[in-house]
Amino acid sequence: MCSRCADEFGGGDTDAASLRDYTTLDVGFTDKGMQVWCRRHDTNVVHIDFDGLRPAADFRCLERNKD
Ligand SMILES: [Zn+2]
Repeated sequence: MCSRCADEFGGGDTDAASLRDYTTLDVGFTDKGMQVWCRRHDTNVVHIDFDGLRPAADFRCLERNKD
């Protein structure tokens, strides 16, 4: 979660219904690992360094169960 988005939403400066609606995140793989990027603030949220490892990943398109 972008801390700046959280601050702005928490401060009531937005008309977004939820923090989830307010935040616009991109996720992608990098040379080091995986990065989450805030499009709204054009800033890094988190950059996870896999330290050369290749963790198991599941790329199946799984959808939330609908009851
Ligand atoms: Zn942000």
